Amino acid sequence: MGKARPEGSRNPAPPRPVGIRTCVACRQEAGQRTLVRLVRRPDGAVQVDLTGRAPGRGAYLHRDPACIENARRKRALERSLHATVGDEVWPQLSP
Ligand SMILES: [Zn+2]
Repeated sequence: MGKARPEGSRNPAPPRPVGIRTCVACRQEAGQRTLVRLVRRPDGAVQVDLTGRAPGRGAYLHRDPACIENARRKRALERSLHATVGDEVWPQLSP
């Protein structure tokens, strides 16, 4: 399959690693396994999405106390999700 075809100058798709997301706190990319997803529900509330598959707008954060604290202080999740993050969300993020 495509054996005789030389590698040409055409690069069909830009390399986009699968499962790489950006932490909203430190803006570094990481695999989904090291991040926790938060999702904005249709009613506007933000909740932790442990399945990583809940529908809605999502944001990612390292499972790291420094990033969690950073996101909380900078309101990075609020800005990313355009929603209010309730106080009850934060304890659920701690590793
Ligand atoms: Zn981070």
